Amino acid sequence: METKLQKIVQILSEKYEINEWWERYAPFETLVGIILSQRTYWKNVRVATERFAERFNCAGDVAKADVEEIEEVIKPAGLYRIRARRIKNIAKDLVEKYDGKLNKISNLPYDEAKKKLTSIKGIGPKTADVFLMAIKKERVLPVDVHIFRIMRRLGIADERDDYESLRAKLESEIPPEQRTKAHLVLIEFGRRVCGSQNPKCEECPVKRYCEVRRWSHPAGHNYARSHLAYQSLII
Ligand code: SF4
Repeated sequence: METKLQKIVQILSEKYEINEWWERYAPFETLVGIILSQRTYWKNVRVATERFAERFNCAGDVAKADVEEIEEVIKPAGLYRIRARRIKNIAKDLVEKYDGKLNKISNLPYDEAKKKLTSIKGIGPKTADVFLMAIKKERVLPVDVHIFRIMRRLGIADERDDYESLRAKLESEIPPEQRTKAHLVLIEFGRRVCGSQNPKCEECPVKRYCEVRRWSHPAGHNYARSHLAYQSLII
């Protein structure tokens, strides 16, 4: 028998197209796209990632570039000052430790690759998992802020969940070959319907499973508190 989570993922999978946006980019560009996509409109991420891919060829280029130039290139995505420094630091670290070659990390087994990625300042567990899912087709189900919010509202995540516990919970129910799709359709659902502010509950295709719909404001006190706690735990 299907679980509640499996039914929700099934409904959303039939409703939304998936966009494996990373297919057109090199590994370092993909990593940058993941960093830029955090809490940013996808349209702006796309523009900034395109500009980045046009200007820079590799991590070595970025490590040598002036931070002001990186800022200018990624400006359309917003938060460009902080992000430019983060991207440059990551590039420098990659050059110093791995000759700028991300495949020296992505070719390793998952646990080892994730450990090496998260040891680089500016790469957290979510960024590492999305990168490995995209570049290595690792069968993980990364949990971003949209997915965390949706799972809290649906009553699948609870206040004690952190990044790894919620990922394990989701992966225990979603088969490996469906995890990338589940990750992408849940994010799409979060962007289009179950937004952080004013979720469109009347048109929600999974509202019958939602445990907070009855709240007058879904971003209620407990939810907001744990959401903030979660955001501080991942990058
Ligand atoms: S009913 Fe509203 S809060 Fe609940 S999952 Fe749907 S959009 Fe989100």
